[in-house]
Amino acid sequence: MILLAMRRTTASPTRTRAWTLPLPSSIRLALEHIRDALQRIEDGTFGRCVVDGEPIEPKRLEAVPWTLYCLKHQNELATESATRTPSL
Ligand SMILES: [Zn+2]
Repeated sequence: MILLAMRRTTASPTRTRAWTLPLPSSIRLALEHIRDALQRIEDGTFGRCVVDGEPIEPKRLEAVPWTLYCLKHQNELATESATRTPSL
């Protein structure tokens, strides 16, 4: 659940009520990625690959700002993932 809005109640103009709605898992996951990226900005590690610490390609960061990996390591992960998936 995520805080959607704050609204003053009619009973008391000084009190507020939090309204929450369940979010689809894809949106929840995207929010987690964005939150993690914001934390990396605060930590000073944003834009660095978590595997080798090298700068992530600027074009990649423009396309996927919350990415954890440089293109080389993203491709390695994708290849590993594809080889682990049993073929039918
Ligand atoms: Zn890397």
